Amino acid sequence: MRYISTRGEAPALGFEDVLLTGLATDGGLYVPESLPHFSLEEIRSWRGLPYAELAYKVMYPFVEDAIPADDFRKMLDETYSVFSHQAVAPLVQLDTNEWVMELFRGPTLAFKDFALQLLGRLLDYVLEKRNQHVVIMGATSGDTGSAAIEGCRRCEHVDIFILHPHQRVSEVQRRQMTTVQGDNIHNIAVKGNFDDCQRMVKESFGNQSFLGGKTQLAAVNSINWARIMAQIVYYFQASLALGGPDRSMAFSVPTGNFGDIFAGYLAKKMGLPISQLVIATNRNDILHRFMSGNKYEQHQLEHTLSPSMDIMVSSNFERLLFDLHGRDGAAVKALLENAAKGPVSIEDYRWKHARKLFDSDAVDDKTTCDTIRDVYEQNEYLLDPHTAIGVRAARNCRRDSAVPMITLGTAHPAKFPDAIAESGLSVKPQLPAHMADLFEREERYTVLDNNVSEVQGFIAKHWKNA
Ligand SMILES: *Cc1c(COP(=O)(O)O)cnc(C)c1O
Repeated sequence: MRYISTRGEAPALGFEDVLLTGLATDGGLYVPESLPHFSLEEIRSWRGLPYAELAYKVMYPFVEDAIPADDFRKMLDETYSVFSHQAVAPLVQLDTNEWVMELFRGPTLAFKDFALQLLGRLLDYVLEKRNQHVVIMGATSGDTGSAAIEGCRRCEHVDIFILHPHQRVSEVQRRQMTTVQGDNIHNIAVKGNFDDCQRMVKESFGNQSFLGGKTQLAAVNSINWARIMAQIVYYFQASLALGGPDRSMAFSVPTGNFGDIFAGYLAKKMGLPISQLVIATNRNDILHRFMSGNKYEQHQLEHTLSPSMDIMVSSNFERLLFDLHGRDGAAVKALLENAAKGPVSIEDYRWKHARKLFDSDAVDDKTTCDTIRDVYEQNEYLLDPHTAIGVRAARNCRRDSAVPMITLGTAHPAKFPDAIAESGLSVKPQLPAHMADLFEREERYTVLDNNVSEVQGFIAKHWKNA
């Protein structure tokens, strides 16, 4: 399997290089040159498989040139054994034909564990083989940092430096990052905001001379292809559990950077019968505005009760635009260069095609809280604010009540106690047993000035072989 850039100019790469590369050299994102396709008969034969075994069936075609089958199987067994539920991604029923798939049973209680637990193991495997080392550098305002740290804590060939804005992330989120012990884990609290952190990361990727040529930076943000790949699996899992592939399914996906829902679109292209995909956004609704009016336009960032979906542009959307333009990299390049300067539209027939593939909705904070309360009152089931947006969008956009509607439950409610309180419920979401002592654990982080040379100096001094 080869991977090509959405902007058409960077060289095609194999899986190993795609794993280690962030953006393509032409500024594009990597996608598979072609997708595997599974027949209904083949998918049907996967019914009842344990999650890790299903993951192997769905993902092996993407990695087969780089990893022998037995090694990949072993890696997947390890990856999904750290989840706290036997089914890994259990389904919870809310109503007739209405479900939530709980993707928050991993170590950091958000769906990002599905991909980052695997990514850490993939990186270490490939780096061991190549006798290489990388420094992961990332900025986080919440979930990604902790999931990346948990995913890399046992890596021999990876040091990870995560920047977060000092005193501007929630205590649960900070503690989930800073209480993980390991010589290769480095938390930096920057005396600035999230944008400052992101700017420093970007600048450092642009010029890595501060590392003295002895190691290189790697990215684990959601544009990494391996993350998308890992997220395809649970669409198959949910479908098979509810009678697929002999009936089609609908999915509603709380969306920020368009990674998770893009994985659903790929599952469909790989042969899984999916009759509806709902893009569920908060007030940061660039995707919903595009789907409703064919205008892709950046607005000011709004801070919402669902912070993991607070984005201005949606980076993985480029991967869909590539398909909508018949995989014409030059067209995508021109479009996105214009989009950086102002609003853009695409040809009407292409936009109509996008509307056939996806429905969309934007849900504000008040409606998010109403949904948390309604579902709790009806089901005694507590939704986190991101999942609540998915459930609300599912109910608003549903086309066929005979088709099971599955909302992806992206985070555990205990990660977002403020939204639960704001919904007027007196119930307090409890952290699961394996995290119950989070507030007693020892924290480790370094506070640095909002200054890129200071941060780079710190990294140069503290990675393993520095
Ligand atoms: C990251 C995240 C999302 C958004 O996922 P994308 O793949 O960026 O669309 C939604 N909910 C939670 C809880 C998240 O952490």
